[in-house]
Amino acid sequence: MSKQKKYVYYFGGKKAEGKAEMKALLGGKGANLAEMVNIGLPVPAGFTISTEVCTAYYKNNKKYPKELEKQVKDALLNVEKQMGAKFGDLQNPLLLSVRSGARASMPGMMETILNVGLNNKTREALITKTKNPRFVYDSHRRLIQMYSDVVMEKAAGVEHGEGKGVRQQLENELHKMKEARRAHADTDLTADDLKELIEIYKAKVKEVLGKPFPEDPMEQLWGAVSAVFQSWMGKRAISYRRIEGIPDDWGTAVSVQSMVFGNMGDTSATGVAFTRNPATGENYFYGEWLPNAQGEDVVAGIRTPNPINEVGKSEHTAHLPSLETGMPATYKKLHGIQRLLEKHYRDMLDIEFTIQDGTLYMLQCRVGKRNGPAALKMALDMYKEKLITREEVIMRVQPAQLDELLHPIIDPVVELTTKAVAKGLPAGPGGASGQAVFSASDAVAWAKQGKKVILVRDETNPEDIEGMRAAQAILTARGGMTSHAALVARGWGKCCIVGAGSIKLNYDEKYFTVGNVTVKEGDWLTLNGSKGTVYLSELPMKKAAEDNPEFQAFLKLCDQVRKLKVRTNADTPEDAARARAFGAEGIGLFRTEHMFYGINSEEPLFKLRKMIHSNTEAERIAALTELFPHVKSDVKGTLAAMDGFPVTFRTIDPPLHEFVPTRVDEREKLAVSLGISLDELNKRADSLHENNPMMGHRGVRLGITYPEITEMQVRAIFEATAELLKEGKKPFPEIMIPVTCHENEIKHQYEIITKVHEEVCKKFGLKKIPHLTGTMIEIPRAALTADKIAEVAQFFSFGTNDLTQMAFGFSRDDIGGFLPEYLDQKILPEDPFQSIDLDSVGKLMEIATLGGRSTRPDLKVGICGEHGGEPKSVEFCHKIGLNYVSCSPYRVPIARLAAAQAVIKEIKNAKLSSKKTVTKKRTVVKKKSSKKK
Ligand code: PEP
Ligand code: MG
Repeated sequence: MSKQKKYVYYFGGKKAEGKAEMKALLGGKGANLAEMVNIGLPVPAGFTISTEVCTAYYKNNKKYPKELEKQVKDALLNVEKQMGAKFGDLQNPLLLSVRSGARASMPGMMETILNVGLNNKTREALITKTKNPRFVYDSHRRLIQMYSDVVMEKAAGVEHGEGKGVRQQLENELHKMKEARRAHADTDLTADDLKELIEIYKAKVKEVLGKPFPEDPMEQLWGAVSAVFQSWMGKRAISYRRIEGIPDDWGTAVSVQSMVFGNMGDTSATGVAFTRNPATGENYFYGEWLPNAQGEDVVAGIRTPNPINEVGKSEHTAHLPSLETGMPATYKKLHGIQRLLEKHYRDMLDIEFTIQDGTLYMLQCRVGKRNGPAALKMALDMYKEKLITREEVIMRVQPAQLDELLHPIIDPVVELTTKAVAKGLPAGPGGASGQAVFSASDAVAWAKQGKKVILVRDETNPEDIEGMRAAQAILTARGGMTSHAALVARGWGKCCIVGAGSIKLNYDEKYFTVGNVTVKEGDWLTLNGSKGTVYLSELPMKKAAEDNPEFQAFLKLCDQVRKLKVRTNADTPEDAARARAFGAEGIGLFRTEHMFYGINSEEPLFKLRKMIHSNTEAERIAALTELFPHVKSDVKGTLAAMDGFPVTFRTIDPPLHEFVPTRVDEREKLAVSLGISLDELNKRADSLHENNPMMGHRGVRLGITYPEITEMQVRAIFEATAELLKEGKKPFPEIMIPVTCHENEIKHQYEIITKVHEEVCKKFGLKKIPHLTGTMIEIPRAALTADKIAEVAQFFSFGTNDLTQMAFGFSRDDIGGFLPEYLDQKILPEDPFQSIDLDSVGKLMEIATLGGRSTRPDLKVGICGEHGGEPKSVEFCHKIGLNYVSCSPYRVPIARLAAAQAVIKEIKNAKLSSKKTVTKKRTVVKKKSSKKK
């Protein structure tokens, strides 16, 4: 008989059927609960229903595999044995929590239901057992509130208008009751009040949802399990997955666990903590707790939680009681457990615990979310503590997190003299300015109009996710460092302040007040998310210090590992110097034409225009001679700033008409200088018009029709290099021809370059001037004929902007009209101008690299399109054996990290696949030998 497929995994006491490595099957939560049991920590018993059930559920029209029911029953029996209580029992009832747990953490994105198994009968038994009627009634009303919302309304697909949902209606009843009893907090309501509230709740549920609240514990359990599976396909979970790139088919697991209670009175508590500070990375136990509360109270932002210990107190929380002083013995135990856990997992963990009547229970642990600065600090500290290896350090910081370190901060000098209008907890780093908006949908709408907004809310919940994403920063009046807003913002590295209690919001009229100041929708705010300070108006920003020593130390580790060189795209000596500071090892693209756009470009631009409007070779050469000193001086400055590193100078690329002046006065000036009439000038300008300039007279085509243009540029490059050589410097120019499609084009240009090289050598008395001649590969034909092109070209550089344009047939300047729709409808998985499309552009790059190197094995190959600084594309460039990537100066650090991570991933994958081959071989051998027998 074939063995039954296992869908349910028990954990409890000293035994767990799962372990940490089984995240794909048990979800992060289930796998880590099992692991905590394995290492002997106090975990309430339970079981996890695997992610395979979720997948099967959606495949089979929302039906469970037939084995599931029996497996759940058996696991429940084990839980009951372990806990000494029975689910639904009238003497000693066991209560359960039901939680979702995907492979990757999705904070607050899916559902949790607590206190499952309570009804009018079991609650009486529990009262007799605990002698604590208030706690039991409180648990019961919480069950009704959560269950009716999650299971009976959301999972059942019942839609109500804004504020009309059952949860809101029950909240209203709770408020009414509090007002009637003059109760400040929920905890001021008595047992009798709560008992009465339960009946009010039940009546309300029936009224709003048209069904009675289920009394049968088993019906409650299966309802809750199904609701968790349903929530995987809920709107907010889908939206979160889209943002985070989590595949839909991973599915969620469901962990069903015995309830323990933090709301049994003052000897009970609940909390959330991190083994290190997730905002700064500092190495101390950091967290929040609430006495007499259930888990969700801490994260829901309903009550502002207390700091867990004395070191974690800030000026805002100094007056609040810590667990360390309130329950010292339990705190000591918890402190020991968190140390043990961090050592075991060798990473910063986020833990949840509950203290039931003085006994500590661990409810969850997972690798904690952190912002960029914290990720960097923790990784380096753990390396120093010999907890992790160099490779692990590198893998611990995501490229986007590194980017956060380059994020703007409020200009410190201005900030010093600006008075903050409100203060809250610093939940997400850096500074941000924007106009105040008060709903997630407004944030999205305003951002779509190109406005910068700050989303201001009492607290956020997962439905606000798109708005939070669209906002520059988030400000909440309530909640702590582990509230939803704080967790999500930290995960994204977004500026965020939570718990700014002095602000009072009015959603209906769209404003908030703080003291006697009123901030209306559209008013500007600036937040300092590292300090928690809120300012009125838009304050100036500065880039965070790139000379942060930890940042440099981390990148040095990356440099030890990576194989790809990282260059920059820079067009001025200033850009070149900045890029050097970021660690660029040369320039991969100097766009010559950019010297005609920027500061001090008036004079060279005028001369370029003269050249463009010339009609004869003699006129053109005269104009080029005037232009020559400008080009040479820029080239020389850039080579000097990059001394000792290669600089790739691209000959002029864009269609000439881009430089034709439109203003009449400018045309007149030009006509006078050329000694022609305005009419004549206009005629010459009109003749430059093209219907499709991107595919027109540009790039190498200009160098072929006007060889004197190439000649002037190349002469400037060689003369600047010769002068620097004479000054004892080590310049190394690489001359790059753009938009090549045929080997004869590059042959043509090569002849000019060789001729000018000889002339300049003679002029300066040099034997040779070190340089390379190469081409961009940005047209599919060039990629496909790379073997021929490499007969002349000594290097290739992929211009993936144009190559993507040509491969897709999408004009890079006109994608705005359709690409957003393509992405929304998932016609394309992502924007091919941001990340290399491996199926087309990637393939062309591979073909070109192989082709080029078949002719010239030492061919240097790089990339200088925008993709050169995008982590996934960098990884691909490493895979196909490129020599370097080149990107904008601010992306250089990201590319250094991505290049190092690419090496580590490659080694890891090679190890994995060699393991697989060995196992396969073994199986074959085994099969063979069993045949022989
Ligand atoms: C490219 O096409 O990728 C490139 C770098 O050139 P440009 O963006 O200047 O066309
Ligand atoms: Mg190009």
